[in-house]
Amino acid sequence: MEPNQRPVRLLVFGRQGAGKGTQAVRLAERYGVPHISTGDMLRAAVKEGTEFGRRAKEIMDAGQLVPDEVMLGVISERLAQDDAASGWLLDGFPRTLQQGKDLVALVGEDGIDLAVDLEVPEEVVVERISSRRVCSECGAIYSTAAPPSSPWTCDKCGGQVVQRDDDTEEAVRERLAIYAEQTLPAVAWFGDQGLLATVDGTGDVDDVTERLVAAIESRVG
Ligand code: AMP
Repeated sequence: MEPNQRPVRLLVFGRQGAGKGTQAVRLAERYGVPHISTGDMLRAAVKEGTEFGRRAKEIMDAGQLVPDEVMLGVISERLAQDDAASGWLLDGFPRTLQQGKDLVALVGEDGIDLAVDLEVPEEVVVERISSRRVCSECGAIYSTAAPPSSPWTCDKCGGQVVQRDDDTEEAVRERLAIYAEQTLPAVAWFGDQGLLATVDGTGDVDDVTERLVAAIESRVG
């Protein structure tokens, strides 16, 4: 796909295992905007071993959410960086209705082009999460069905490919429940603002990307 320099501001919703991370990377590349994943940012802080990272790890391993006011600080700082001046794609933020309202307050009512919601049935996501593997260095996503070419070394950076600490069955169940309770109201709210496109996230990865692009083009094209 050719990178496209059109400035777009996109949000990607989807519960754990919906393919949100994979599709977010592809869309950011396609539109030439930074892929801003709050989960990746938190995992980087955990790796750095800062006090903030230690607190975030406890919350993440329990499958719970980092407090809204903390996340607002994280995302405000990130969106203030130069590379975010002409567009961005947010993956994993907002995660609550409060975060959604905070984001609109931060970027303005016209500051978001579209939120896409990847819809995938629960039995499919549980299966996808339990087989998911990620690069501990760059965050590239693999699965037991589609491993790196040399197990388990990342094809992109040579890092070690592992199962995430929060992809255990217990944490996954907790995260799905939290998504239904906390994130679905945010998704519905973006729908009420006329900013939401719901896209079928099942089937071939390329087909899902094309469906997402079609939804985005019909909005920002
Ligand atoms: P993800 O990689 O998006 O699945 O995020 C992994 C974990 O990071 C989540 O289960 C939360 O504990 C935490 N997290 C990521 N984004 C947010 C957010 N916007 N608000 C609160 N917690 C978050």
